[in-house]
Amino acid sequence: MSIDIKEADHQYIANTYARFPVRIVSGKGSLVFDDEGKRYIDMGSGIGVTSFGISDDIWAEAVYGQLKKVQHMSNLYYTDPCVLLAKTLCERTGMKKVFFSNSGAEANECAIKTARKYACDKYGPDRYTVITLKNSFHGRTITTLAATGQEHYHEQFRPLTAGFAYAEPGNVEALKKLAAETNAAAVMVECIQGEGGVIALDEGFIRETAAFCAQEDVLLIVDEVQSGNGRTGELYSYMNYGISPDIVSTAKGLGGGLPLGAILFGEKTEHVLGYGDHGSTFGGNPVCCAGALSILERMDRGFLDEVRQKGKYIFSALTGAKGIETVSGMGLMIGVKPCRPAAEIVAACREKGVLCLTAKDKVRLLPALNIPMDILKEAVAVIAEACAEGAEEK
Ligand code: PLP
Repeated sequence: MSIDIKEADHQYIANTYARFPVRIVSGKGSLVFDDEGKRYIDMGSGIGVTSFGISDDIWAEAVYGQLKKVQHMSNLYYTDPCVLLAKTLCERTGMKKVFFSNSGAEANECAIKTARKYACDKYGPDRYTVITLKNSFHGRTITTLAATGQEHYHEQFRPLTAGFAYAEPGNVEALKKLAAETNAAAVMVECIQGEGGVIALDEGFIRETAAFCAQEDVLLIVDEVQSGNGRTGELYSYMNYGISPDIVSTAKGLGGGLPLGAILFGEKTEHVLGYGDHGSTFGGNPVCCAGALSILERMDRGFLDEVRQKGKYIFSALTGAKGIETVSGMGLMIGVKPCRPAAEIVAACREKGVLCLTAKDKVRLLPALNIPMDILKEAVAVIAEACAEGAEEK
């Protein structure tokens, strides 16, 4: 039986995604192919998920190997991959303990629950507010929507979870004032705002916020869902800022293509959650964790330096190029602001065989971290050409 997949998608899948008109059927590394055999360079990696590209051999071996042993076991039993992954995450970050979730939103939910419990245990039930930043994005559940500092995501879903207040990024004095007024339990930040337009926050602001949090015993939560797992040329983006968070949440690129999130707890927070305080049926799934472990093992200093170099290449090739206003971000998490609407550039690139994303008014680039240099150069040339064409037509 043959069915028209695009038609059936519209009929049977909830209408939450405005899909691009491309049906991807295969791929390898940074290349994907549609149902007509057209080749595309993937500059989005499933929104920062396929860290080593499509169907990477080493990752796939790790996944298959575990799949043939035990595909799932409840968290009532010990299994190897999640323990080995947690140990690696702690050793690589200096954090103390890990809870595994399945997604970024769930990772943030857990981070928020932990912050509330920490503050309640220590200061009583009136200390619960989590300060997040305007223009942030933290997820789509009712609580992480509330954490997200963008009004338009809130509309039509009220009432949202109470206990969030929003500070202006870059203004540490305003943040301190808000924290005092709201008796804040925690501050949650993305060091590089992803969905908000790929904006790396000011180093001074992040460091002063961290110092304030430490001084006032307000927990610092860093959302590394998009910026983590090697994306910025450090294992986690906060490492570029020289700070030590109390809680780190991550997901996306950690699993390399399988659903996995992690919440890392530091010294202050490692014992906050006890038996029965939190749980997840699928969290720490052994297949996802085996794949993640193989990914982290390959992200050594040399590899992370290459990520950084590739990011520098994109910056230098596109900064000041015709039709491009700005280039922002860090490592291989880049936002290109074209003169024309970003969606038009993304469509033009797609026609020319390069798949990009948008983030607000930016063309967002999140290629696989191991994208070969020749393929990256080819993609960047196409993006530059699309932006320049747009400028000519203006
Ligand atoms: N936090 C950040 C910074 C994100 O970029 C995202 C997703 O884009 C999320 C949280 C939510 O992650 P998920 O879609 O896996 O729930």
